[in-house]
Amino acid sequence: MKKETAKKPKEDMTEKIYYEDVMCSVFEAKVLSCRQRGDRFEIIPDRSAFYPEGGGQSGDRGFLLCPDRTPESGEGGAGHAVIHVLDTQERDGDLILCCDAPAAEGERIEGHLDWEYRFDRMQNHTGEHIVSGLIHERFGYENVGFHMSSDRMTIDLSGALTEEEIREIERRANEIVWSDVPVYTDLYTEEEAENVEFRSKKELHGTIRVVRIPGADVCACCGTHVLRTGEIGSIRIISHVRFKGGVRMELMCGRWAYNYMTGIFIQNHEVSMALSAKMNETGSAAQKLLQEDAALKFRITQLLYSVIDRKARELRGTGDVLLFAEDFSPLLVQKLTAKVMEECGGSCFSFSGTDDAGYRYAAGESGGDLKELVRKMNQELNGRGGGKPFFLQGSVSASREAIENFLSGEKEGLQIIDL
Ligand SMILES: [Zn+2]
Repeated sequence: MKKETAKKPKEDMTEKIYYEDVMCSVFEAKVLSCRQRGDRFEIIPDRSAFYPEGGGQSGDRGFLLCPDRTPESGEGGAGHAVIHVLDTQERDGDLILCCDAPAAEGERIEGHLDWEYRFDRMQNHTGEHIVSGLIHERFGYENVGFHMSSDRMTIDLSGALTEEEIREIERRANEIVWSDVPVYTDLYTEEEAENVEFRSKKELHGTIRVVRIPGADVCACCGTHVLRTGEIGSIRIISHVRFKGGVRMELMCGRWAYNYMTGIFIQNHEVSMALSAKMNETGSAAQKLLQEDAALKFRITQLLYSVIDRKARELRGTGDVLLFAEDFSPLLVQKLTAKVMEECGGSCFSFSGTDDAGYRYAAGESGGDLKELVRKMNQELNGRGGGKPFFLQGSVSASREAIENFLSGEKEGLQIIDL
């Protein structure tokens, strides 16, 4: 069952310049109506190059000049008032310029598009068609979700792709760009459209606009596109993740891709300088650095273990000891305590940290029970922690002096040692 055409043409409908001349960025028009809605003014012109939000593409922005206004009319300094167009929408068949100031019915206006904003979206929208079309042709997957933000696009595909397949699609998409083929817009009636093969064939009524890119895609679309694929510049698929049984990919074309790749280039240049590596060898240089770093950490740990062993032997038979070690991990603090308590013949308390950041600790005594003492210490020194009666660990928020005072008061003859 087909629905009736929802939007009936109206007598006073706005002429859509963007469909006749997509490259038009300045145009003259007359105000059909203007009404206030919240803090915005909705101006309906008799013709518009401003494209309204639709088909995943955001509405155009720019400004209107009002050439019939004079400085005496109190509406602007240079003889023209400037009205900013913040967004363009289509509602009930009306094309609405959402503006920051009003215009009078019948007033002449000169529309100026924010061309960089529009052209970015044209480059990206056409690039998206190429990628979706190539994927559809090669794998039969549908584009089931499309979103365009301010610097990238997201598309959801109904099937999964491997990294290699994505790189192949990206390469082929760029070949379509380099071959600079024309982008055609064909108009069909519903009846005619039934015999034409194109993507997005559902829920279409009235005149059907089909965007055709030879070698890449044929798809129903109401958006604005570049005239030739060469204008896209380049296409980059920058990420892809599994999503609902398919894949969600992020892509960028034209200026967005250029800006992104420039950012990546600068980052890579910094890495290259820091690692003294060629720009195309930073990956392997970073891997090498990580391996060296891991080897160094392993070596440091071994050395610290031998320091701990030696210290434990030195402290044989010393009795109760309080040790301060600089910059020890919780694991090293525990190792130190476990080794020393086996040798010292008393209880061992090890701390590592600073007065500002606090100290982590371990407390142990072979066959002893330090539970009550540690509970009291945590209470007095803003600490927390626990463990077995003969071995406990935790942290305190207190100064070294407070730690020394507390434990000296608890353990007579306590020896305080720096590692
Ligand atoms: Zn489209």
